[in-house]
Amino acid sequence: MKLPDHSRAAVLRQYGTPLQIEDVPIPQEIEPGAILVKTDCCTICGTDVHLANDALARPVELPVIVGHEMTGTVAALGPGSERDSVGQDLRVGDRITWTRTNCGHCYMCTVAAKPTLCQNARAYMYETMERSPYLLGGFSEYVYVLPESGRVKVPDSVSSPLASMASCAFRSVIHAVEELGEIRHTDTVVVQGTGPLGLLATGVARMSGARRVIAIGAPEARLDLARAFGADDVLSVETLSAEERQAFVLDATEGRGADVVMEFAGIPQAFTEGLHLARRGGSYLLVGQLGQGEVTIKPSTFVNRNLRVLGSLAGGAKDYWAAMEFIRRHGADLPFERLISNHYRLDQVNDALAAMKQQTEVKPVVTFAEGA
Ligand SMILES: [Zn+2]
Ligand SMILES: [Zn+2]
Repeated sequence: MKLPDHSRAAVLRQYGTPLQIEDVPIPQEIEPGAILVKTDCCTICGTDVHLANDALARPVELPVIVGHEMTGTVAALGPGSERDSVGQDLRVGDRITWTRTNCGHCYMCTVAAKPTLCQNARAYMYETMERSPYLLGGFSEYVYVLPESGRVKVPDSVSSPLASMASCAFRSVIHAVEELGEIRHTDTVVVQGTGPLGLLATGVARMSGARRVIAIGAPEARLDLARAFGADDVLSVETLSAEERQAFVLDATEGRGADVVMEFAGIPQAFTEGLHLARRGGSYLLVGQLGQGEVTIKPSTFVNRNLRVLGSLAGGAKDYWAAMEFIRRHGADLPFERLISNHYRLDQVNDALAAMKQQTEVKPVVTFAEGA
């Protein structure tokens, strides 16, 4: 099959300026292990907004194609790409999502068995679109899946926007809960944050059978969504003080505090608050803290309260698979579709980014119409 020569893509050339729609070359040679996909859709993430405004801690090699939560249909398979990362057959026409790369021959990949922390990882939307294989970002009609990227077939019953969401927001939640260990039916779980990750974590805690799930966030529309995802109680950060929220959690747990607190809020102050929402001997899982902010803490807080505090970053191929399985399994129990907000065409991508920035939508999605 002859591949098209060019892919229309949204390119960031200079921080703080709108993305431009450009024609980017499509590699005509698919190397062993690689895949060329025709993009179905790419959901928008807070990280896309931060990258466009030069607010990321990691290096970015401009100009880049922005977007990293994408689902695509296999257009061409390189030699040796006939199976996905969990052993399922892959053919032209199958839908897949894929991970950043891990090399399989570094300390983190092998000894630590933490492929998400690979020392040679390459991620999508961080490398220039001026060098082959050009198409390493999601706001593009075609994307090039690198040979060292994990790839997972999307189940038929999982829509492409939900699969896209599972390729960043949800796999991070699934990975984090696995790092935590089990959520027990006796656990009271507090979820800090009602953005996409917090809402998904609320659903996971609910489906894990937690005794009580308490979500903390804002605005009111997000708290409604948290209820729909299974929160028994919602606490607003707009109408209640931190002291009032803590009093509620203590009251709900006979004065002990929550067995498990999970942080998806992102602001450093949430950490200070969360430390005092967890019971003695409880667990505190941090996922949202990616910025450079600081807070003051007393180290004895950890010791006196015998707290287990752990951070979790991103997720690997097994988490992509597990996230999509969770959606397939619980699609009737949880309103996943309510997380996907408006659909945008590629040439409206700047509007979609603005909606994400203003938090007027949960997960805007850029879709690629057939034949566009
Ligand atoms: Zn993301
Ligand atoms: Zn590695």
